[in-house]
Amino acid sequence: LASDESRASATPMMEQFIEIKAANPDSMLFYRMGDFYELFFQDAVDASRALGITLTKRGQHMGLDIPMCGVPVHAADDYLQRLIALGFRVAVCEQVEDPAEAKKRGSKSVVRRDVVRLVTPGTLTEEKLLSPSDANYLMAVARIRGGAEPSMALAWIDISTGIFRLSETAQGQLLADILRIDPRELIVPDTLFHDPDFRPVLDVLGRVAVPQPAVLFDSATAEGRIARYFGVSTLDGFGTFSRAEMAAASAAVAYVEKTQIAERPPLGRPERESSASTLFIDPATRANLELVRTLSGERSGTLLKAIDRTATSGGARLLAERLMSPLTDPEAINARLDSIATLADRPSFCEDLRRALKQLPDMPRALSRIALGRGGPRDLGAILQGLSTSAEIARLMASEALEGELAAARDAIATLPIDLSHRLAFMLADELPLLKRDGGFIREAADAELDEMRALRDQSRRVIAGLQLEYAEETGVKSLKIKHNNVLGYFIEVSAGNAGALTDSDAAKARFIHRQTMAGAMRFTTTVLSELETKIANAADRALAIELAAFDGMVEAVVAEAEAIKAAARALAVVDVSVGLAALAEEQAYCRPVVDGSTMFAIVGGRHPVVEQALRRQHGTAFVANSCDLSPHDGKGHGAIWLLTGPNMGGKSTFLRQNALIAILAQMGSYVPAESAHIGVVDRLFSRVGASDDLARGRSTFMVEMVETAAILNQATDRSLVILDEIGRGTATFDGLSIAWAAVEHLHEANRCRGLFATHFHELTVLSEKLARLSNATMRVKEWDGDVIFLHEVGPGAADRSYGIQVARLAGLPASVVARAKDVLAKLEDADRKNPASQLIDDLPLFQVAVRREEVQRSFAPSKVEELVKDLNPDDMTPRAALDALYALKKEL
Ligand code: ADP
Repeated sequence: LASDESRASATPMMEQFIEIKAANPDSMLFYRMGDFYELFFQDAVDASRALGITLTKRGQHMGLDIPMCGVPVHAADDYLQRLIALGFRVAVCEQVEDPAEAKKRGSKSVVRRDVVRLVTPGTLTEEKLLSPSDANYLMAVARIRGGAEPSMALAWIDISTGIFRLSETAQGQLLADILRIDPRELIVPDTLFHDPDFRPVLDVLGRVAVPQPAVLFDSATAEGRIARYFGVSTLDGFGTFSRAEMAAASAAVAYVEKTQIAERPPLGRPERESSASTLFIDPATRANLELVRTLSGERSGTLLKAIDRTATSGGARLLAERLMSPLTDPEAINARLDSIATLADRPSFCEDLRRALKQLPDMPRALSRIALGRGGPRDLGAILQGLSTSAEIARLMASEALEGELAAARDAIATLPIDLSHRLAFMLADELPLLKRDGGFIREAADAELDEMRALRDQSRRVIAGLQLEYAEETGVKSLKIKHNNVLGYFIEVSAGNAGALTDSDAAKARFIHRQTMAGAMRFTTTVLSELETKIANAADRALAIELAAFDGMVEAVVAEAEAIKAAARALAVVDVSVGLAALAEEQAYCRPVVDGSTMFAIVGGRHPVVEQALRRQHGTAFVANSCDLSPHDGKGHGAIWLLTGPNMGGKSTFLRQNALIAILAQMGSYVPAESAHIGVVDRLFSRVGASDDLARGRSTFMVEMVETAAILNQATDRSLVILDEIGRGTATFDGLSIAWAAVEHLHEANRCRGLFATHFHELTVLSEKLARLSNATMRVKEWDGDVIFLHEVGPGAADRSYGIQVARLAGLPASVVARAKDVLAKLEDADRKNPASQLIDDLPLFQVAVRREEVQRSFAPSKVEELVKDLNPDDMTPRAALDALYALKKEL
């Protein structure tokens, strides 16, 4: 499209379009023409298909029709929303001069246009385009080579709220860190984007990851760019950041500048987040535990949905953030738990807070739109409403003795500027229009001149109404009307049959000036009428000008307080989250967990937070509470592992997951569904639950299972919690049993973590005789009349049978098949008594970590080449001897 030939054959307007399009090849171009954004060429074809709008054509280009479609400007947000959701990026191109100016340059001249903004998923601010309860992060990843291992860092920005954070990461935990923050858009230097090491991230993130030129991530210019953005001469006051962090932060800032073009969203200073202070949850675990999205991508059925009792969007976003990044520092966790404890004791205080919180609008997002010049009167209204609600909340909190998080929150809320709130209340009308250009948002009595102009306008309208009567009487035409439209302004209209009364006499002719003849009517004006009209128009223009100036004044005043407003909004979110979690604890009978630096894991009467609520809602039945104790015997040392057996449908997965979820809830600072819980902080949480199929990426279920298990065995530490469900199920029995056997031994001897291991292989239960910290547990069932009844109770010991056939019968397998299966089973069980697997425990020496260390050492033992090199002494060698030695070395390879 951008070839010379193409340009030469284009009309001046098309030439302009082609030029702008060539500068924005990755984006769909919304090209402003009057009240429409028009799309041309392939953009038009794509957009008409994506949006279901009519494809037309406009003129020709190089002998072919130019496809075109358009969306009206007033409805553009809706269309943008759909395009963004489909993964498109949109460049919005506006007219940047008055058409009159263009005409002055010559009749063929086109109005100057420019792209004023790139709309991308990670840089949205419009209310319609954002989900209230989700952060909308743009993230940048940077990699600095040099040194033994490249250093990597992430920076993420939410321009709709001003949050700006950064953190170091590493190749091995990159994906986990990205998923923890869950950005809408990840920008990646193109060199890294095409690196095979980055492939796994791309596989998971898909279109969220976009390549950008590597220069954007240049660490040499990074500090300067960030400093310029914040209008400071040096970043010394911001803290110290690594080169990789700086590069990532600067790339994120550069991308914000690139997409927002002329505007600068008000960002908070970059804050460092250390990934060591958050619970590491690997990607597979995060997906399997369905924290904020189910495996099928839905919101209902997630842990977040089950625990969310927040009243504000800011609170909902903070809750999700905390759930995604639980802490590892017992002190910080307990500060959060203290807040809930304080509130739990004061139900009526909580009730008052909740009532007030419900009135709270989304201040940070309104603020961001205002600062970006995209705000309307309603955004100012939201700030006003937010300020007065905050004042009320501050009053409520002032009289209470508060500690920890809540005390700090109260102080941030109480420092909100009261005069800004007075000023907005004084200026803003009760009912606010969406757009400032409509006027009418300034309250009566706020501005004397505005009142005068409005009075003039209204008074003139009354005079016009009087004129109509006067003219009707004078001409004898009772049906004479004074009307208004945008083309003529005010005019007198009479039917064609009555027109004579206004045109026949000389006196009438001198008075009524003909303007227009319609099919059945004639239109006139008079000098008096046009004078009045000018007066009204001038008054209205002047009134709007006064309103717009007042708007700008208010915007300036709000932006000047941006820091205080953001800090208060953050504090209000903390209050909302605490109140919400206190309400949840009360409603669902959760308890405060004891969280400390031990390796305890003692849950009494634990429940699955999601299944419990679903059972009650759907079936009105109660969840069977189960205890889990993985604490070390003496309270010190390494924690224990439970080997859990039991029939399918017995509740094994539910039990495994509930304990992982309880750990997450405790460490995010929430009460937990249990009678009591004592949890020594977990540093990493791993789970391998269920068979998540990954066939789309060409990996069999078994392969996925092994990859995930490998990650766990390689990474779990003695502070980790590991949940393994049915390892080795995806292969032949003996293979599977052997792998499961070795995995349990490794977890016990090498990782020494706390763990739950559910298995079908009853043979494994003999391991508890040899492994000191391994105990057997089983899901209890009752047999009744040949049927099996699931009690969902966890008890000590091992299941003696699988009850697979009973379960199959419950599922409706034909009776003949069930009967036949019973026969086969009896034969197999008979043969099984002679099965060598049952002898294993006596014959097989225990898996030894020592052996493994030896192996590792052996692999590090010096090779033949190394030994030869060691014996060389270059100072004593002749060139000839050196060459010979080189040949000898080469031969050893
Ligand atoms: P398994 O992993 O042993 O096949 P699941 O954990 O999938 O079994 O549980 C099977 C069903 O039993 C689930 O649908 C769940 O609703 C129900 N269930 C599991 N545990 C409990 C419990 N503790 N109390 C009540 N119902 C439970």
